Amino acid sequence: MKKPNPQPKNNTTGQTYRGRFAPSPSGELHFGSLLAAMASYADARAHNGQWLLRIDDIDQARVVPDSAEHIIRTLEQLGFEWDESIYYQSRHIRDYRKALDKLQEKNLTYPCFCSRKQIKSRSSNGIYPGTCRPNNQADKTTKTTEDKEYALRIKVPDKALSFKDQIQGAYTQQLAQGVGDFIIYRRDKVFTYQLSIVVDEYLSRITHIVRGHDLLDSTPRQIYLQQQLGYPTPIYAHIPLAVTKEQLKLSKLSRARKVRCDLPTLVQAARFLGQDIAPDNNYQSLQDFWQHLFDIWQLKQVPKMEKIEIMY
Ligand code: GLU
Repeated sequence: MKKPNPQPKNNTTGQTYRGRFAPSPSGELHFGSLLAAMASYADARAHNGQWLLRIDDIDQARVVPDSAEHIIRTLEQLGFEWDESIYYQSRHIRDYRKALDKLQEKNLTYPCFCSRKQIKSRSSNGIYPGTCRPNNQADKTTKTTEDKEYALRIKVPDKALSFKDQIQGAYTQQLAQGVGDFIIYRRDKVFTYQLSIVVDEYLSRITHIVRGHDLLDSTPRQIYLQQQLGYPTPIYAHIPLAVTKEQLKLSKLSRARKVRCDLPTLVQAARFLGQDIAPDNNYQSLQDFWQHLFDIWQLKQVPKMEKIEIMY
């Protein structure tokens, strides 16, 4: 769907703002994903930027049939208008393969044969203890991948990686202690979320990422991959998660229902995001609501919190 965009303004880095919303097609669009969609959309349009829609369907085993279509239809009914054609991860396997090859050429990856059970027995905190990491040339030759199932891990350095989140502020993670060498290609031959989305953001020239707080601690891994692949790092903003009173993220597990496609739902979402919109505001149409939101949108009004309980 094409939006007749005004001339895009340039952001501070001199590029056109390009944001995105990237739902996984594992169920209907619920209130939690509406928040990420709204925050990324409003922030892009408030900057006269572009906003793209991507369907994160790399993990086909988790794809719920027809849910991508449902999500797209729900977004349309809520008045979202995206630029360019929809990007499907499942059509970019070759691109992920190329990125993996590049990391392999740089000798940054290694096969890992450990089962979850083995890792658990060797590590008290669940962080991969580096069991299969080759420490020298001799190690490399002793491990053969023939006839064995293995995942590919990327070596991470023993140093801190920091970035400034536009909502949550400075965030630092020691990759080695915080996550360890992480998997980029699974033993069931699927490229992982971390690698695939780094490639997607690069191919789509995404400059700004606005998404849920649950992905904050994935960001250093993604920045590390960008650095190894020679990609630019986008600007990040992580919005609070909407949780049930049992503190469960709204998702299929917490039985979040499909979002209602009406103005009160949009108003509720904008207020959750800290925007200055009265609950009884009388909008004539969805377009009316969106235009008002683009005009008043302030990212700095979004609460700097990990999660917020909602009545559900
Ligand atoms: N597809 C991911 C999800 O639905 C979001 C990816 C992202 O925003 O980085 O949780």
